[in-house]
Amino acid sequence: MRVQLLPSTFDGRGQATLEQRLTCYLIDDCVAVDAGSLAIALTADQRHTVRDIIVTHPHMDHIASLPIFIDDLYPTLKEPVRVYATAEVIALLERDVFNWNVYPRFSELNNEFGPVMEYVPIPTGQEFKLAHLTITAWPVNHIVPTVGLIVSDGQSTIAFSSDTAETEELWEAINRISHVDALLIEASFPNSMAKLAEVSTHFTPATLSRELGKLRHNGLDILAVHLKPAYREKIIEELEGLNVPKLKVMEPGKTYSW
Ligand SMILES: [Zn+2]
Ligand SMILES: [Zn+2]
Repeated sequence: MRVQLLPSTFDGRGQATLEQRLTCYLIDDCVAVDAGSLAIALTADQRHTVRDIIVTHPHMDHIASLPIFIDDLYPTLKEPVRVYATAEVIALLERDVFNWNVYPRFSELNNEFGPVMEYVPIPTGQEFKLAHLTITAWPVNHIVPTVGLIVSDGQSTIAFSSDTAETEELWEAINRISHVDALLIEASFPNSMAKLAEVSTHFTPATLSRELGKLRHNGLDILAVHLKPAYREKIIEELEGLNVPKLKVMEPGKTYSW
């Protein structure tokens, strides 16, 4: 499986910078997990192949360019853009984003080929198929309804925490599977901001380190994501200080293969 964290910021020469302001992962050039930078960072080819988007939760950094992605493609879509999310998240997207005020309700609109956007409600704790992938969503501990994901292509398995603080079900699910190749886990704030991390339900390196104690697999790649750009250097220094084997910070724009 190939996974790319799409960049959200580019320097003057068009090169992706390392800061991660928006969240969007692209799996095998066809399935997106969240859509923060989707409309900003896809190549022209990827724009034609991505029609399935899983939205883990409706925070702006995870959906910022979803409406623009659909808007850009509107006249040319020959099949709808499918948005996979829990029923709770779909209801929030319809109420707060695609509400005719912030953006048109694309789920009610057609172009000359048919519908342009379709919601696909996903269960929690139950496998579903999406393209060539088998996916299970698990509720995590964030201030809005949010799911973490376990994604397998039959060869490799990757877990995505999404945004979360201390949580249980996702770890129990990860520990039940026989092999995990990689864990993408959030580390939003430096240790000095533990209070803010707690009220906004995010990890610091210290709380992440405690949380990793729940993981019963060894030898997997652990990629820290969702580092707030203003504290990036400090968070990296604190993550390095944890001495967790194979823990690295995920780089936007780089393709990871497992
Ligand atoms: Zn969030
Ligand atoms: Zn976020």
